[in-house]
Amino acid sequence: MERFPPPDFESGYTFPPTTAPPPRADLMQYVDVAVLLAALALAAYFVLKLRSRKHVFWLTVFSVAYFGFYRKGCICSVGSTQDVALALFNSHYTLPWSVLAFFLLPLVFALFFGRVFCAAVCPLGAIQELVVVKPRTLPPWLEHGLSVIPFIYLGAGILFAATGSAFLFCQYDPFVSLYRRSGAFAMVALGGVFLLLGTMIGRPYCRFLCPYGALLSLCSRVSRHNVTLLPDDCVHCQLCDVACPYGAIREPTGLLPTPTPQQLWQRRLVFGGLAVLLVLGGGWLGRQLAVPFSKLNPTVALAEQVAAEATGKAWQMTDASKVFHDSGKPAEELYAQALRIRQRFTVGGMLWGALAGLVLGVKLLSLVQFDRRRCSFEPDPGQCVACARCYTHCPNEQARIKREQRAKTIPLSAAPAGASVTKNA
Ligand code: SF4
Ligand code: SF4
Repeated sequence: MERFPPPDFESGYTFPPTTAPPPRADLMQYVDVAVLLAALALAAYFVLKLRSRKHVFWLTVFSVAYFGFYRKGCICSVGSTQDVALALFNSHYTLPWSVLAFFLLPLVFALFFGRVFCAAVCPLGAIQELVVVKPRTLPPWLEHGLSVIPFIYLGAGILFAATGSAFLFCQYDPFVSLYRRSGAFAMVALGGVFLLLGTMIGRPYCRFLCPYGALLSLCSRVSRHNVTLLPDDCVHCQLCDVACPYGAIREPTGLLPTPTPQQLWQRRLVFGGLAVLLVLGGGWLGRQLAVPFSKLNPTVALAEQVAAEATGKAWQMTDASKVFHDSGKPAEELYAQALRIRQRFTVGGMLWGALAGLVLGVKLLSLVQFDRRRCSFEPDPGQCVACARCYTHCPNEQARIKREQRAKTIPLSAAPAGASVTKNA
């Protein structure tokens, strides 16, 4: 029984079908969070302990089925970022506990075990994972250039959510229409384009757009347990590099020309100075964009329309302005509200621009080898989505598996005298 049934129109009006899944019953919210927790724990176990691509693959299929088609892509950790941003800046917005759990749990796991959420739990990542057919390697300049977009998109999404203007991540989620089997044609087409592209360029949305992936990559960089490839035994065969569809393997720095300390300092000064300029320039640009961006807020847009009607600049009323006039509210109240929102856009726009500049600056600095030296091919903890493909291609990993299998099958009594046979040799 609905608590607030819709009015029964006599005009024959029929309500359009809603595209969002209906609200979840309280009990089922516990089920969703429990499934998320179990899936994260399994993903961490499969990736880091079992080191099994096969298990990760089947968990991916499960996530597509449960979080994708059954839950219709909602509740979603990517979208939850906006709820958290709105709740932080608007005291009237109540953040459901399950949404907070979906926001926090993958980040906590990333802090301890790397991006195991991306590996096989996120429905957006999972569907792209299943369509990778013939991945190509992008040139490093393009890979580096595109990899800053998720941070910029994250800042924009937070700005729009915090000002109550829009939930951009949900509005432009390319796969949700597919999971719901409904939605605007443009969004269905966008999902199709991403999947088609994903057959040749591994996980294009995850790598070059996902705002939550940006947060996960930051957490994953400080995680102690990440995907590793037996670095002590690396024979530089590059098979892991070839196997990784996401360009996440970093080559040994020993193979690159080593800059002299003087060259390194010169580069640091040039790129550091450039980074400061980018932060200042970004802040200035963000401030300039505040006014046009604020017009996307429905309250600001309504205030502009009402003001234009009052000054004779607009001849026709819109549906929204008609409803406003009918409500009898004073226009001054609306103008004051719109001004407050615009001020928030000004401050938020500056911060967002500065953040975008900072991300570009840090990227530039990372290109002058501030990272530690590497003696072997290693997965980049921020970029690796823990798909476990490289395990199956690394000859050392295969040798390790054989050693383990042999150790399990050879009885201790049959081992050569003096040899120690352990299970995890
Ligand atoms: S990068 Fe984003 S979309 Fe991709 S798997 Fe991770 S959270 Fe999901
Ligand atoms: S697990 Fe290996 S193959 Fe998969 S993304 Fe990480 S480095 Fe690449």
